[in-house]
Amino acid sequence: MTDRKAAIVTGSSSGIGLGIARGLAAAGFDIVMNGIEAPDAVEDTRRALSDEFGVRIVYSPANLMAGAGVRELVGLGQATFGKVDVLVNNAGIQFVSPVEDFPDEKWDQIIALNLSAAFHATKAVVPGMKARGWGRIINIASAHGLVASPFKSAYVAAKHGLLGFTKTIALETAEHGVTVNAICPGYVLTPLVEKQIPDTAKARGITEEQVKRDVLLAAQPTKRFVTVEELADLAVFLTTAGAASITGASLTVDGGWTAQ
Ligand code: NAD
Repeated sequence: MTDRKAAIVTGSSSGIGLGIARGLAAAGFDIVMNGIEAPDAVEDTRRALSDEFGVRIVYSPANLMAGAGVRELVGLGQATFGKVDVLVNNAGIQFVSPVEDFPDEKWDQIIALNLSAAFHATKAVVPGMKARGWGRIINIASAHGLVASPFKSAYVAAKHGLLGFTKTIALETAEHGVTVNAICPGYVLTPLVEKQIPDTAKARGITEEQVKRDVLLAAQPTKRFVTVEELADLAVFLTTAGAASITGASLTVDGGWTAQ
């Protein structure tokens, strides 16, 4: 075990999670990266981050769709670093469809990964955080945790649920030096968003360019995508002493979307 703090970032082989893993590595955290990509596909990134920032980084390809995979991931963090100080529940998927056509298995998968995985991971790390009197849990929710859009019933339900879960665990851990917060991003141009553009175009009967301009960025007053670096900066701030009284919060980083 080193003096450095250790962080698990779920779904950090891509997009926002990778940006947060990079931000935490730059801030001196040892990291457990995770994603469902094959380990050799992520190896170059893992090694590059470790070399650049001089921290230890391990990768787990655990599938977090079930509690057993989540416990495997947390177990790797505990076995490698002796503790988990920071948990970032970030892994998430999306599916876009009118509710009457929404496949049952897609509903179940989105609830399992976007909501239940955060429960299983939190349950596994909280005892150690309480015992050490310090911990940070950061849930990557969404502007869709606060407001809805049509055709995203499972995602919106899961993200609203994640905000309720965030507040509950914040109350349960408040006297133990543990903070629990949610970050609610607006649209970030990651593979998750790129993948839903064709389905949204189909559901609404418009072109993909129109989806970007008239659907995604229509809701975002800044008229630009949020960046992963902006989200990583906030996640890192939440781990600092200056953020010790921020708990149970839903922090929007959405270019003004939910101000409307
Ligand atoms: P992404 O598709 O780029 O990355 C998703 C990550 O999750 C990848 O590392 C992938 O391997 C991992 N993952 C997928 N299924 C998994 C599984 N079963 N088990 C373990 N890992 C799995 O997505 P992103 O845009 O970076 O999204 C990350 C989070 O941010 C999600 O929770 C998403 O809902 C949220 N979010 C994204 C946006 C956006 O505009 N991109 C906006 C608001 C919130």
